[in-house]
Amino acid sequence: MSYKQLQHAVWITLLIFSLQSCALLEKDTVDARHKIVVSYETAQTTTGDAIFQIVKEGKDLEVLSDALSSRIRMPQDLPVVFKDLKVYNAYYNPQEKNITMDYWVIAYFANALYNMTPLSDEDLIEAVENISTFIALHETGHAFIDLLSLPALGNEEQAADEFATLQLLQTGQGDKALIAAITFFSMYYQNQNQQPGTNVIQYSDEHPLDIQRYYNIVSLIYGSNPAKYEFLVTQGLLPEARAKRSEYDYQEKTQRWNEALADYIR
Ligand SMILES: [Zn+2]
Repeated sequence: MSYKQLQHAVWITLLIFSLQSCALLEKDTVDARHKIVVSYETAQTTTGDAIFQIVKEGKDLEVLSDALSSRIRMPQDLPVVFKDLKVYNAYYNPQEKNITMDYWVIAYFANALYNMTPLSDEDLIEAVENISTFIALHETGHAFIDLLSLPALGNEEQAADEFATLQLLQTGQGDKALIAAITFFSMYYQNQNQQPGTNVIQYSDEHPLDIQRYYNIVSLIYGSNPAKYEFLVTQGLLPEARAKRSEYDYQEKTQRWNEALADYIR
């Protein structure tokens, strides 16, 4: 082998080696990139199955979860598991570090919606997906507060709502889903008020989504873009007195979440 050939061989070897280490490096980085992993257990009941068929087809939650996973460094994977439990609940388990979504809590809201207003199958399916996505993101808010040991963000239920709302507002598809979910919750409370004594479903860590939390969410949406969401005030979904503070509230809450997550942004 001539010197030139030898030099060439060494160069090729070095090149191959560096490509391999690049590949290794890339593989390590990919492996270290923990994700929100959404999965759906097969349902054993008719009700559970009806919801299972809808939510496993919906892609909003997967898209939002992937976007979050690629933006925020997580210390481990966060499983979000849909199950047929009939406990009417959705919760984050801080010991197991996972989220459980019972098909029945979604069925409960879907049923309430169906009883309130005539909807086409298509609209009902979309509402189920939107409600499911909002609840799952709320629980993801709880999970991030725990997994990332985020500093105090005030009342944790409110903080989790803020997290879900801000995430949804940041995507074009999400804001539509958010409005749909919020419109539904509004109708739900109006209906509850007309039927005193009706059991209020408790979802998310034993705290019902009360009317106060509803107004906080609507205020955030409006505050993110008062011109775009003017209808929230004109249609009476948000009182004008509250709307005056909304823009400031939105900026303050966005900043608070950005600061809390700053160390974990890729
Ligand atoms: Zn909660």
